[in-house]
Amino acid sequence: MADRKYKKITIALAGNPNSGKTTTFNSLTGARQKVANYPGVTVEKKEGRLTYKDYKIKVVDLPGTYSLTAYSIDELIARNFILNKRPQLVVDVMDAANLERHLYLAVQFIELEIPMIITLNMIDTAKAKGFDINVEQLSKLMGIPIIPTAAKTKKGLPELLEQIVDTAEHPKKYKKPQISYGEELDEEIDKLQTIMIDDNELSRKFPIRWLAIKLLENDSQVIKHIKNTAQQPDVILDTAEKSRRHIKSIFGEDAETILVDRRYGFVEGAYHEAVKSTPQERVDISEVIDRILTHRALSLPIFFTLMWMVYNLAFAVTEGPTRWLEGGVSFLGHIVGGALPVGFYRSLIVDGIIGGVGNVLVLLPPILVLFLAIAILEDSGYMSRVAFIMDRIMHHIGLHGKSVIPMLMGFGCAVPAIMATRTLASKRDRIATMLIIPFMSCGAKLPVYAVFITAFFKSSAAGNVLFSIYILGILMAAIVAKIFQHTLFTGESTPFVMELPPYRLPTAKGLLIHMWQRSRLYIKKAGKVILLASVVLWFMSNISLAPKSEQSLPLKPADAQMQASLKLKNSLAGYLGRGLAPFLKPIGLGDWRVGVALFSGFVAKEVVISTMATLYSLEDVGEDAAPLREAIAKDPFFTPLRAYTLMVFVLLYLPCMSTIAIMRKETGGWTWPAFTMVYTTAIAWIVSFAVYHGGSLFL
Ligand code: GDP
Ligand code: MG
Repeated sequence: MADRKYKKITIALAGNPNSGKTTTFNSLTGARQKVANYPGVTVEKKEGRLTYKDYKIKVVDLPGTYSLTAYSIDELIARNFILNKRPQLVVDVMDAANLERHLYLAVQFIELEIPMIITLNMIDTAKAKGFDINVEQLSKLMGIPIIPTAAKTKKGLPELLEQIVDTAEHPKKYKKPQISYGEELDEEIDKLQTIMIDDNELSRKFPIRWLAIKLLENDSQVIKHIKNTAQQPDVILDTAEKSRRHIKSIFGEDAETILVDRRYGFVEGAYHEAVKSTPQERVDISEVIDRILTHRALSLPIFFTLMWMVYNLAFAVTEGPTRWLEGGVSFLGHIVGGALPVGFYRSLIVDGIIGGVGNVLVLLPPILVLFLAIAILEDSGYMSRVAFIMDRIMHHIGLHGKSVIPMLMGFGCAVPAIMATRTLASKRDRIATMLIIPFMSCGAKLPVYAVFITAFFKSSAAGNVLFSIYILGILMAAIVAKIFQHTLFTGESTPFVMELPPYRLPTAKGLLIHMWQRSRLYIKKAGKVILLASVVLWFMSNISLAPKSEQSLPLKPADAQMQASLKLKNSLAGYLGRGLAPFLKPIGLGDWRVGVALFSGFVAKEVVISTMATLYSLEDVGEDAAPLREAIAKDPFFTPLRAYTLMVFVLLYLPCMSTIAIMRKETGGWTWPAFTMVYTTAIAWIVSFAVYHGGSLFL
C-alpha cells in the first residue's frame, strides 16, 4: 500500500474547568494519548493524536483556566504554549449553559491573535435548561466559527473536525474583531504599539497589540520579556508606566481593572445579542439597574426623558452665564471701540472680530454643560445601554445600534459626532452614520431658532415649535438612512458586539477630562473658523461693486439710512445675496439678506444670526441698534410661515465648514463631503418648499 502523504496539524484544547475539555479530548483521540508533565512543573500535559482525512492531528490539552494572566501557573502554561509552540489553532471548549463566563477566555485568545474555534459543549443540557443560543449570530459577533457539541455522545464532533481542517488550511478566512477598550485605553495601546512595532525581535515573537495590552496590565512576565529581549526596554517600560498612571488618573482604577471590565463588557454585549431566552441568572446591582433601564417598554421613555432633561438643563442653567458673557463681549467691544480711532481697524475689530468670535464664546456655557452631561452618561455606562436599546430600531433603518452615540452627539456638535463614528468597525456603517449626522440639530443652530421663534411665535407656542424642529431633524435622518439602505449601502449592517460594561460611578477627574477634551475641540474648531468667517464677511460687506458715481453720492444725514442700505446692497455680500435670491424665492425666502446669511452659515450656523445682525444693524444707522429679534419682526418680508420655513431650511441644509472638513479627514477624500453638501441642500430645499407652500394653503 502506498504511503499516504499526511499534513500535520497541531491544535490546542482550551477552556474553563468542567467545560468538558477532557471528554472532548477523549472523544477526539480515543486511546491514543500520552501524559507527561509540562517542563519544570507538575502540571499534567496530555497529548493525543488522530487521523482525519489527509491530516494527522495532534491535540494538546491545555490546563483548564478562566483567564490568561501571569498570576497562575496554569494560565501561564496555556498562554506560553500558544506563544511559543504556535499551534495552528485553539479549540475553546465552552459550557453552553454558562456561556457568559466562558466567553471571557475566548476574548483573551482573540487578543493573542490565534486562529480559533469555539465548541458549545453540553449543548444537550443547555437546551434542556432553556437556553436559546443563536449560534450563527454569536459566531458573527465573535468572528469565530462555533460548533455546538455534546462531547459525551460525540455529537457535533464530525463538524468540529471538518472545521479544524478548514481553519488550519485557511486561517485568514475568519476575521476576528479587534476589541475596543474605550478611547483612552485604545489610545495608550496604540502608543505602546507604535514604539514596539519596529523592534523586529519583539514583533517576530509576539503579537504587538497583545504585548501593549499586557504592559498596561503590568503583566510581570511580559515586563520580563521586554527587559530581556527588547532593543529599547527602558523606553517601552517608561511609556507603559506613564500610560498606566494616565489611565489611573482618569478612571480612578488600574488599567488592568478597566481592561477586565471592557472584556466583560464585550462578552456581555455578545451574550445579550445572541442568547435570547435566559433562565435564572445571578443577580447583581448592574443587572437590577439594567432590568429597569433596558426594559422593553420603559427603556425608550426613560431615555427620551433623560435626553430631554439634559438638553433643557444645558440651556436652562446656563442662561445666567450666557448673559454675563454677552455682557462681557459687548463691554469688550465698547472698551476696544473707545480705544481705537473710528475707521477701518476699529470696524474690523469691533464689528468683525469681537462681534463674530463673541458669538462662539457666548455659546460656550450650554456646550460645556451638554458635554458634561454626556460625559456623565457615558462614564457611568448608560450610553452603552442606549446603544443597546436602540439597536433594534437602528437595524430597521440599516444602521447599527452603535450609530446612536455619534447621532446623539450630533445634537451638540457634528464635528466630535463624526469623529465618534470611529467606534463603528465597518466603513459602510461609518459613512452611513456620518451622512445623517448633519440632520441632528446641533447646538449652533439653536441661536437661529431662538431668534426667529421669539420674534414670530407666542411664548406658549415656542416650546412646541422648537420641539417640532428637532423631531423633523430626527425624522429626516431616519427617512434618509432608510433610502440610503436601499440605494447606496445595500446589504446588512455589519454585526459586532456592543460592549455592556458594568455601571461605574464616574470620577470627577475623568468627567472633567472628557468634558474638556470635547470642549477644547469645539473652541479650537469653531473659534478659528468663526474668526476667519467674521473677517471675511466684514470685508465682503465693505467691498463695493457699485459704479463709482453711485458710491460718491453727497451724504445728507437724512439719507444716511438709505445710503447705508444702498452701500450694503452694492457690496460684494449684497451681490452675493441677490444672486442667491432666485434660488430661494420658490421656498418663500427670496430676500438678499437671507441669501447672504444662509451662504455665510456654511462657515458656522451661528453665523446665520451674526450675519443678519450685522446686515440689519449696518442698515440701521440709529445710535442704539435694535436687537435682531426686533429688527426682523418689523421687517415686512418676514411672516411666521417664512420664519418657520427658514428654520427648517437651516436645520437641513449644507453642513458647516468644520463638519465638511472633518468628514473629508475621516473619509480620506472629497467624495462623501461633496455628496453630503449637495444632498442635504437638495433635501432642505424640497422640505422647505413643501412646508412653505403647504403652510400657505392653511394659513
Ligand atoms: P473538563 O474539566 O473541562 O476536562 O471537563 P470534563 O471533560 O471532565 O467534564 C466535566 C463533566 O461534564 C463530566 O462529568 C462530563 O461527563 C460532563 N460532560 C462533558 N461533556 C458533556 C456533554 O456534552 N453533555 C453532558 N451532559 N455532559 C458532559
Ligand atoms: Mg479535565
